[in-house]
Amino acid sequence: MSSQRHYDPYAVRAQFPILSRTVHGGVPLVYLDSAATTQKPDAVITAIDQFYRRSNSNVHRAAHALSAEATSIWEGARARVARFLGAQRTEEVVFTRGTTESINLVAASWGSMNVHAGDEILITGMEHHANIVPWQLLCERTGAVLKAVPVLEDGSLDISAIDALLTDRTRLFAMVHASNTTGTINDVGALCAMAAAKGVRTLVDGAQAVLHQPVDVQAIGCDFYVFSAHKLYGPTGLGVLWGRYDLLDAMPPYQGGGAMIQHVSLERSVYEAPPLRFEAGTPHIAGAAGLGAAIDWFDTLDLDAMAQHEDRLTHRATSIIYQVEGARVIGEAPRKIGVVSFVIEGVHGTDLGMLLDEQGVATRTGHHCTMPLLERFHVGSTCRVSFAAYSTNEDLDVFERALTKAVRMLR
Ligand code: PMP
Repeated sequence: MSSQRHYDPYAVRAQFPILSRTVHGGVPLVYLDSAATTQKPDAVITAIDQFYRRSNSNVHRAAHALSAEATSIWEGARARVARFLGAQRTEEVVFTRGTTESINLVAASWGSMNVHAGDEILITGMEHHANIVPWQLLCERTGAVLKAVPVLEDGSLDISAIDALLTDRTRLFAMVHASNTTGTINDVGALCAMAAAKGVRTLVDGAQAVLHQPVDVQAIGCDFYVFSAHKLYGPTGLGVLWGRYDLLDAMPPYQGGGAMIQHVSLERSVYEAPPLRFEAGTPHIAGAAGLGAAIDWFDTLDLDAMAQHEDRLTHRATSIIYQVEGARVIGEAPRKIGVVSFVIEGVHGTDLGMLLDEQGVATRTGHHCTMPLLERFHVGSTCRVSFAAYSTNEDLDVFERALTKAVRMLR
């Protein structure tokens, strides 16, 4: 890692109005649930507000000034995302409702053309349900088989198992870039290279990666990359599917309706080229205004310094947790994003989450939509703390006191 760089999380934090509120009648909020969704900076809130105050109109269809503005906001955001991901063409960026819909789109559309009985889809044992269930549905429809790369005790992938799992029947390898439960960062470039060497297509679930590090789809070498705006300081209800243009161009529509057609008669329809082919109906235009602003805002951060800061918080949170007798951190891979999941012997996760919340500390307890991963670690649920650009050491001071008190009360 490069030398230590100064990073001021307080200057970042000051731009997030929600972080100065209190909960439960006056307790200052300590938000440690950024892996579920990030909070939004002023720049994003203003962009959405301005869209509805000034530019609200539908895209693509009308010949008037507001519609032209709305269209340029929508298409401008697409161009912004394309640059953010290092896409070769803006047309490779499809807007969806989120990571979940992006994966369902690929499974339904690309899957219907390319996956047949006896074929195999490879995933990993650390996927979010959003990168498991769509493939199970596809397998049920086609008679294909779903396989998974095992996860090692430290939460990293068992790379040695991959070669045998990539067979001549494997059509796609879908993998998470960074785990929302253990925080493990996968070397997706290496995984995609292994797949490509055997002619296997790849999809990377970047939902948890985009907010912690720069992403370059060319360098990764994947075929599809997906993420949600709301985990990148943007609004809910909007997501991205990036795909190589030749693949998108060969894919049938996912949903039918307005905007995705060139011509419709009662007998048949002629579809648009990508990305419009996959964007039926009125889209989340205000969401695109927000996502464009979120990426512009994110670009102002020193990402190296931010990653170092988040790393320090992750290490400190891990030591705070290990001070508690009977605590166990689930996932201690060498490369992690700012996510720490843990269990404490004799303490029920839901009770712990509630007592932390009473002290203003927002964490998440449960299976985090990764049931197979938790099963692999023989736990039913964990308590999870997660960080973003605005998280501070002071947040962890409060967490440390709150955790000590909560555990004392529960034992
Ligand atoms: N994949 C990962 C790794 C996630 O963390 C999440 C959200 N928790 C998703 C997929 C699904 O994202 P969304 O709910 O925004 O579609």
